[in-house]
Amino acid sequence: MIRYDADVIVVGAGPAGATAARFLAAWGINVLLIERFRLPRYKPCGGAVTKRTLQLLAPLDISPVIETWVKKLTVQSPNGDSFTVVLPDQLIATVMRNKFDTYLTDAALASGAKLRDGEPVLRCEQVKEGMEIVTAKRIYRCLILIGADGANSVVAQHLGLKQKRKAVSLVAELSAESSERWDGSIHLHFPFSLNGYAWCFPKGNHLSAGLYTHLPSIPNWRDNLYRYLANLELLNCLDWRKVKGHIIPIAGKKSVFHKGNAIVVGDAAGVADPFTGEGISWAIYTGRMAAAFVRVFLEGETDALSDYTRSVHEEVLSEMTAAHWFARLLFTFPQFCFQHFLHHEPVLRNFAKLLGGEVSYRQLWRKALSKGFSFLMHS
Ligand SMILES: Cc1cc2nc3c(=O)[nH]c(=O)nc-3n(C[C@H](O)[C@H](O)[C@H](O)COP(=O)(O)OP(=O)(O)OC[C@H]3O[C@@H](n4cnc5c(N)ncnc54)[C@H](O)[C@@H]3O)c2cc1C
Repeated sequence: MIRYDADVIVVGAGPAGATAARFLAAWGINVLLIERFRLPRYKPCGGAVTKRTLQLLAPLDISPVIETWVKKLTVQSPNGDSFTVVLPDQLIATVMRNKFDTYLTDAALASGAKLRDGEPVLRCEQVKEGMEIVTAKRIYRCLILIGADGANSVVAQHLGLKQKRKAVSLVAELSAESSERWDGSIHLHFPFSLNGYAWCFPKGNHLSAGLYTHLPSIPNWRDNLYRYLANLELLNCLDWRKVKGHIIPIAGKKSVFHKGNAIVVGDAAGVADPFTGEGISWAIYTGRMAAAFVRVFLEGETDALSDYTRSVHEEVLSEMTAAHWFARLLFTFPQFCFQHFLHHEPVLRNFAKLLGGEVSYRQLWRKALSKGFSFLMHS
């Protein structure tokens, strides 16, 4: 008889892996979480979490690790015009990922999952009746493997599930002095040169600033970051050595999210939002979905993992596709969109509804196509 180290092994203790492990363990399934670094670990990220994300995490309450509730949003056009709006209460919060991810992992452990951190997975393969996972320390066997190991996923790589398309973002944690002269808003700027946006988020005692592009690499990132921070009069709060960039994989129509006894979730599956670059909510969403499908598989439904791929296409990729069209529109014509859409109150109301999970990109896009974009300004 085969001896398994766990029924399910989850590789990666980010939001996707910690969430999958928490749900599985809460259902009484024997789960082992393997994480490359010792926790807590730094993760380059804006750390913006939306109301929709908080709903997906429920019943877990993350208020102990929230750094800031963001009250205002400032949007700046390519030519420098800007406006500021007050956000609905508790729509966007920011977190430091070292604390947030450790908190989610602790919640998984409290539900009964086990953790081996400081143990990188080197490879994995399908073996008879399960998966074999080789780490820097030993070999593990399990019935099901969940690859939640982020943008450079070893699991996706070894199983041939790696995504080809990608966006890129970089972040700099600014010195504490930065927040003393800041009004507490989230600031977004859409320069022509970026095919994306520059951002600045308040995070407790400091600000995080960065760039996001829809392209596979950030054009002139030094110039773009320099100009953005100079414009905000924050250049003296930047330490260039601390600027960290990372890819954000983006799945496509032909992507597959399972193979044999393994599935991938979160960035390992390429399910970040191509419009905002926001991946935490989708990591949690697919982490939850994966847990549910794995449970069904363990109950004897052998097609459950291919059903997972189908459901990711139906529920997630269709949303990514609609988000992609909004991204193309805004990033290609930022000045036009700023003048004709962005500062209209109903547009902002629709955006707030999107972040609050009350409306989807698909619904907005369908309305836009059927009624013309004026609906965004009058609904
Ligand atoms: C600069 C930047 C800013 C961003 N800002 C935001 C934002 O403000 N809001 C938002 O929602 N999204 C943001 N994102 C996207 C977001 O960070 C990711 O989409 C999200 O972290 C994905 O979660 P995950 O759990 O899938 O992967 P990750 O958070 O990357 O977690 C993967 C885990 O797996 C571990 N791991 C990796 N390889 C191995 C291995 N071989 N063995 C064992 N463990 C391994 C890693 O150490 C890590 O702990 C940003 C991304 C970048 C690059």
